[in-house]
Amino acid sequence: MKKHIFYHFCFIITILSLWRCNNPSQAANPNSTPTPAIVARADNNQSTKIAPIIINVDSLLKQNDTLWVDMEVIAPDMVFDIRYATKNNFVGEVMYDCPKCFLRVASAKALLQVHNELKTKSYRLKMYDCYRPWSVQNKLWKKVPDARYVAPPSKGSMHNKGAAVDLTIVDKNGQELDMGTEFDFFGKEAYPSYTQHNSTINSNRRLLRSTMEKYGFGISTTEWWHFSYRKKSFKVSNFQWECK
Ligand SMILES: [Zn+2]
Repeated sequence: MKKHIFYHFCFIITILSLWRCNNPSQAANPNSTPTPAIVARADNNQSTKIAPIIINVDSLLKQNDTLWVDMEVIAPDMVFDIRYATKNNFVGEVMYDCPKCFLRVASAKALLQVHNELKTKSYRLKMYDCYRPWSVQNKLWKKVPDARYVAPPSKGSMHNKGAAVDLTIVDKNGQELDMGTEFDFFGKEAYPSYTQHNSTINSNRRLLRSTMEKYGFGISTTEWWHFSYRKKSFKVSNFQWECK
C-alpha cells in the first residue's frame, strides 16, 4: 500500500472508531433521556445498561453533556458514602442496587475543581448522593410524599438531571467537618440561614458554600449539604448503571 493511501486508511479507521465510541445508539437503554453513553471507568467491562468508553480524564472532560461521568474515576481520592445504596438514610431502605456517583460532564468538571481547591487546604469532598435515576425519585416520593423533603417526580429533582450533589468536607484524616447537623437532618438547624450555630460550624459551612459557589453551584435554602449546578440546564434522566 502506498504511503498516502495507508495514512488515508488510518484516518478513516480512526474516525469510524470515534464515531462508534460516541454514537449513543451503542448504549441501548429505552429508559434514558438522553441516552447515556459513558462509564469512564477504564476497568469497566461491557454493560447491558451503559456503553463504556475508555478515555483519559482530559478527553472525558471535553465530551458533551449527553454523557455521564463516574466521579470515582476522575477523582478517586474523593470519599464516597452514597447513602441511598445503604439503609443509612432517612427512608431506612436501600434505594440503589450499588453505590455510584454519576454527574453530567459540566457538573462533574465543576465539582472536580471544588475538590482540587479544597485539597490545597488539606481537605477533600465526601459525597452522599449525586445523580439519582428518576425511578429512584419515584420510589423516594412513594415513601415520603412531602415536597419539603423530596422533589415530586412529576417535576423531577436536580439530582435526576445529574446536576445536584449532596456532600460535605472531610479533613486529611477523613473526619467530617462539623456542619451542625447530620446529612438529611430535616429541620431549621440544617438551613444555611440558621444563625445559632457556633463559629466553627459557621466557618465550615462558609468554606463549603463559598467554594461550591465559586465553581457555579447554588445552595438549597433548607439543606446545607445540597448544591445544584446552575450554569447549564439538563433534562431529567432515568439512566441506570450496571452493578458488578
Ligand atoms: Zn440533594
